[in-house]
Amino acid sequence: MFDYFDEEQNERLLGRERQVEDREENGLRPTRWPDYFGQEKVKSNLKVFIEAAGQRGEALDHVLLYGPPGLGKTTLAGIIANELGVNFRITTGPAIEKPGDLAAILTNLTERDVLFIDEIHRLNRSVEEILYPAMEDYALDIMIGKGPSARSIRLDLPHFTLIGATTRAGLLTAPLRDRFGMINRLELYTHEEISQILSRDAAILNIGIDAGGLSIISTRCRGTPRIAIRLLRRMRDFAQVRGTGVIDQKIAELGLAALDIDERGLDATDRRLMQNMIEMFGGGPVGLDTLAACTGEDSVTIEDVYEPYLMQIGFLAKTPRGRVLTRLGWNHLGIDCPDQYETRLKGMGRALSEMSPELDTDKDETGSQLEIEFDL
Ligand code: ADP
Repeated sequence: MFDYFDEEQNERLLGRERQVEDREENGLRPTRWPDYFGQEKVKSNLKVFIEAAGQRGEALDHVLLYGPPGLGKTTLAGIIANELGVNFRITTGPAIEKPGDLAAILTNLTERDVLFIDEIHRLNRSVEEILYPAMEDYALDIMIGKGPSARSIRLDLPHFTLIGATTRAGLLTAPLRDRFGMINRLELYTHEEISQILSRDAAILNIGIDAGGLSIISTRCRGTPRIAIRLLRRMRDFAQVRGTGVIDQKIAELGLAALDIDERGLDATDRRLMQNMIEMFGGGPVGLDTLAACTGEDSVTIEDVYEPYLMQIGFLAKTPRGRVLTRLGWNHLGIDCPDQYETRLKGMGRALSEMSPELDTDKDETGSQLEIEFDL
């Protein structure tokens, strides 16, 4: 059922994308609500809608889940299907190459089935157009013949539920986004929630871990269950070879230090990105594309993988003029944040300390909303 993995392997230990070593994840995937920790708001709403659809005997409305990789979108979709008591079909946007591929999938569904399309923003346009009438009217429009004699016929489809997953809702075209009845954003997990997930997973995998070990791993996994599970398995190796077999605070600290993951959960790539911001741009502001070009990282990766966590821990902020490193970010690298840096940013109308992820205006590349120019 859950048997696809990204072909492009990103071997970064703190990478959120699926990697080959995450195959074991499948055995850990919760299939019922009580094992799915966190995301309380999304969960409580979905429970109501699932119950209501069940009582009416109807298919659940289409659901869009968005948020960084590894936060539990696929898992959540599986639980929804399970709770609805229907079949769960899973595919990804890039795997559906032609309209015919999607037509084959849709005509094979049965009434009320859940179809999960991961990376739905990567569907090509001709495939996406087939999806509009399918989502709205449960119908498939097919062209028969060619030239002047061509005609279109409409096939009825079973009433199904589409669950789409994407890293950012903004990547979807408006017509597609508008056809989802529910749009849910998944949040990074708190330390407590990750601890609950890890306790359950450690029990399933038969890994010994105490409260100290749990606390260290849950604070260094970037609020992401997939990374937490990966670190848990790596720390098991350290506990086995260097310790008593149980992951305690000492072993977890030793193991993470050996893997170059610091006390805030940053690895060498995060630190290099922050360092480059200081060395090349005096801490910022710097536009996303410029940052990507100067660091050799892909701008989508910076936006989806590095930034959400750096912003969550208050090391990086988005401003209308670009990304800036906060005082906390400078301090973390052990570099003194010069006073004139803060003064310059205060000129933007906001004190550095006030900057938060809420400032996510997504307008940083589009130019000046500010009257004050920077002397970069
Ligand atoms: P995504 O589809 O967003 O990339 P996945 O659903 O594949 O993420 O989640 C990765 C792994 O993390 C899953 O195999 C599951 O074991 C674990 N996981 C994710 N979210 C939760 C959760 N809320 N509770 C328990 N485990 C979770």
